[in-house]
Parts: sequence; structure tokens; C-alpha cells
Amino acid sequence: MNETDSEKDLFILDGHFDLTMDMLDRRERGETGVYLNHYARDFSAGGINCVFSALFLHNHFLPEMALRKALCQISVLHDEIIESDGRLKLCTSTAQIREANSTGQLGVVLSFEGVEPLMGDMRLLKIFHSLGVRGVGLVWSRRNEAAEGCTFHPVEAGSEGGLSAFGLSLVRHAEELGMFIDVSHLNDSGFWNVMEIARGPVIASHSNCRSLCDHPRNLTDEQIKAVAEKNGVIGINALSAFVLPSSVERKASVDDLVSHVDHLASLVGTDHIGIGFDFDGTFLDYTGMGKAIDVYDVIDGHRETPLFISSLRKRGYSEVDIRKIVGGNFMRVLENTIG
Ligand SMILES: [Zn+2]
Repeated sequence: MNETDSEKDLFILDGHFDLTMDMLDRRERGETGVYLNHYARDFSAGGINCVFSALFLHNHFLPEMALRKALCQISVLHDEIIESDGRLKLCTSTAQIREANSTGQLGVVLSFEGVEPLMGDMRLLKIFHSLGVRGVGLVWSRRNEAAEGCTFHPVEAGSEGGLSAFGLSLVRHAEELGMFIDVSHLNDSGFWNVMEIARGPVIASHSNCRSLCDHPRNLTDEQIKAVAEKNGVIGINALSAFVLPSSVERKASVDDLVSHVDHLASLVGTDHIGIGFDFDGTFLDYTGMGKAIDVYDVIDGHRETPLFISSLRKRGYSEVDIRKIVGGNFMRVLENTIG
């Protein structure tokens, strides 16, 4: 099988993308058909089959608008599905993801990136589950009812904390409902609290290796081993700030990203590596607030996914390993969580 043939039937799952956030942002300003107009071509060029779409909320919507904005993100996804010419599908099971894949649709799995939309009320969890949400990232990089996120910049705050009583209960309830737990953005105390109580698998949807790039958003070697022991997956993140330390005076490249894959493989093998590229190059900054951190994507969006795959090949990864890394491992987690 040559490279082109093998690439065509690779199943590729990106474990983190703010698709629904951008759909809502653009639709609130009058656009329609956001997926077809802004994403379909890039996803198709990159061979992407499935994404975990984060229900992410900017700070300025909190706390009052959290619930409404999350519901609106789900609502506009339905509008986008109708307008997508059959190219988008909301998926709540691996069978649905496979079905989407077999018909050339992009499978979208909804996941919280911070549980602010629950407004501290556990009864809302099953409502979001019934709306199709299957992933629970407890926090973004801020404190909420469940836990505390690691921040990008030092901010004035009180003592750092782990999971709250609500957070501990949330992990248990979410796992009972068949949702997967995502530890990306948690601070270290919260990370270890999750590991103590979660049945697993637990994922870090978009985090890299702290030993290569010393940033609190990245995982220590001990944390990487703990995720692997829970039979989880770490999705590597293409945001430059998490790929190469700022002290290195050159631009981070796809090769630097593959070095994170190498490090993960050397620690825990290839069964626990995925992709969670976290691309943000396509999002318009409507608020004029600027980005939280000065970053760029080391791969220029989903259309350049083949560059990442060819870099894996150049480093000597087998086709079997590549299949696992670009989607197979995350599918295993989904089989063991959402079913
Ligand atoms: Zn994130």
C-alpha cells in the first residue's frame, strides 16, 4: 500500500476543537452555513473524520450567561447540521462515529471545556447528557464550582485548590452516565484528585509534555504515566506555547510537536497518544480583547494534518502506530466510556 492509499483510509479524530464556539460566534453576527463556508474544505483536505467539539465560554460570559451560551452552542450545531448538505453528524456513540465515517460525514462529539454551564447544579448534568454531551473537561484555565484550572499567566488569587465536593461528585456522576473525563486545563492538585477517584479511562484531550516544554498546561512524566495507567489518551496540542519553551529563540515546528509524541512513546508506548490540535487560527476575535496568550498553530490548521502524519513516518512510526495515534486510541477510550 502506498502512502496515498493508506492515508485515504486512516481514521483521524481531533480530540479538541472549538467548533461550536465559532459556529455560535459567527451565527450571532448573521452568518449561516459556517461549517460549509469555513471548515468543510479544510477538514476534508486534512482527512479529519471526527472532532471533540468543546463547549467553551469566554470569561466575559460568566457566570450568568454560561448555561444559555452552552445551550445556544448546541442549538446552532443542529442548525449547522441541517445546512451542511449531510456532511455533519452529532455523535453520541462509537457506532454513530463509524456510521458518520462510512458516509463521509464529520462526526462531532460534544464535550465541556469547563462545567460552568451546570451552574453548580448536578441535575443539569443528565440534561446535557441527553442533549448529546459526552465529555467532561472539568475546567478551563480558571476556577469554577468543580475545580481550579492552571492559569496562563500568574494571577492574583488565594491558595491553590484541588477538586471541590461538587467536582468529586461530578466525576462519579459523569462516569456513571457514560461520559469521559478530561483533565486538560486542571491544576496539578485537581489532576491527582481525579486520578484517585476516576474509574477511567481518563483523557487529557489537548496537553503536551512538561519535560519538553515547562508550562503548567502540559503534563509531568508522572501524570503521563497516570493517564496511561487509567488506559487513557493524551492528545498532543499544536499551540506553539505548549510545544516549545519561550526561551528557545526559534519558531516551533511540526518536528517539535512530533518530539512530544516521541517522549510520550518512550514513557508509555503508543497506545496512549492521540491528537488534540486545539487550532485557533480560524477564530475571529470579535471582542477585541486579544488572545489570552501569544500563540500560533505549529500546523496551519486541519488541512495540514498530512504534514504531521508524514513527520511521524519520517521518525519511523509504523502504520499500525500511526493509526492508533491519529484516532484509534481515542476510539478505544470512547468504546470504554460512551460506548
Ligand atoms: Zn483548551
